Amino acid sequence: MIYLVVINPVSGDSNKKSLTYFLQEQAQSKGFDLEIFETTGNNDYAKLEEKVESLNPDKLLVAGGDGTLLMAAEVVMDKNIPIGLFPVGSANGMAAELDLPTMMLNIPILDQQSFKRAWRIIEEGHSVKVDMVRINGEYSIHLADVGLNAEIVKGFDESDSRGFATYAHQFFQKYTSKKAFSYLVRADDGRLYSGKAYMLSIANARMFGTGAIINPRGNVSDGTVELCVIKQASALSILKSAGSIITGNVEYDADQVEIISVQQATIELDPAQSFQIDGELQKPVSKIDVSILPSVVEVYCSEDFKNQA
Ligand SMILES: [Mg+2]
Repeated sequence: MIYLVVINPVSGDSNKKSLTYFLQEQAQSKGFDLEIFETTGNNDYAKLEEKVESLNPDKLLVAGGDGTLLMAAEVVMDKNIPIGLFPVGSANGMAAELDLPTMMLNIPILDQQSFKRAWRIIEEGHSVKVDMVRINGEYSIHLADVGLNAEIVKGFDESDSRGFATYAHQFFQKYTSKKAFSYLVRADDGRLYSGKAYMLSIANARMFGTGAIINPRGNVSDGTVELCVIKQASALSILKSAGSIITGNVEYDADQVEIISVQQATIELDPAQSFQIDGELQKPVSKIDVSILPSVVEVYCSEDFKNQA
């Protein structure tokens, strides 16, 4: 048995060395081979792909956040190599989605307990086959969006400071200046939707990393992706809907938020909008092609999650 672990050494602020020691201990006591792949930010995808090709590991362990998970998922999609996740990134939305144990990092004893909990999920071996979404030639496993949230991500990227206060500042700044855009959605089965919106999410998952639910209907393994359109019903409604991104509360009203389940769709936007996929800022877009790639990546999850999936 060979386990390949992908570690993003700069993701989040936890001590990745203690995780490496933990995994080396497991490898010794359980008798598997452990290979470590550290991301550098330079051509990681191609290097990991080469590593997976040459090693053909039995499991791919991912120690990082949503960005590292997305890269790993792209590499092993359709390859029958399950992913075990140690959610130690700065954004761990997919871990929350899969109901994985929260990491309590940077306190040595809690580190160990966190690693043990994540490891137990992998050892128990319950897994779900997760869908991915193809969006304008890129992949998404979690959440992509145009409009307000992508503008916040852009402002956050351009800002020197980090953390929740910066996010909140960006939120209120972008929120007060945001103008509605026109959208036209054509679903593959002929359904048409159009109107004005402040934000449109392409949601494989249910929630942001903060736990705020954008897509109450979301299920990462049901073979459909939701287009969640946040429309303007009133100034208050946009405050409430978009505010839930921060507070974690969700009180959606049908005329404020429209949720469209599709397998494939095209979206037209006017004017072009800021755009992000799984936390990575993209070029502004006016046209988006979306299609679901059903059940392409196997990811370990809790037994409870598997039973309800
Ligand atoms: Mg789904």
